[in-house]
Amino acid sequence: MKVGEAVEQSPLLVEVLPSLAKQIKNYFTNNISRFELGIQVDTLRIKTLCDCGEPDCGSFYLTTYEEDRDIEEFNLDGIGTIETQNGLITFIEIFPSPEGNHIRNTLKDNGVLY
Ligand SMILES: [Zn+2]
Repeated sequence: MKVGEAVEQSPLLVEVLPSLAKQIKNYFTNNISRFELGIQVDTLRIKTLCDCGEPDCGSFYLTTYEEDRDIEEFNLDGIGTIETQNGLITFIEIFPSPEGNHIRNTLKDNGVLY
């Protein structure tokens, strides 16, 4: 990244966690026919890590997240939950697990804070 570039630019989910992004996209487009949610995945940007304090929690907020909005939840293949608000994917919950730990560390390595 060049000096002076917006360092606070939030990283793209598809760049930082490509396999998880693909899993989420496939889930919506192939499994449950929520194509309009699936096509959002390519543009989702990661805002912050979950701050629950659990070291193996891989959950994170997207820049679309807003406080106090109604949430609709989708179970993601036993590894976590996808939350949407007003038709936008806003929060990815990854249950505490080795995968969650890996995701958390990957996000930290990419400058995502909490
Ligand atoms: Zn958490």
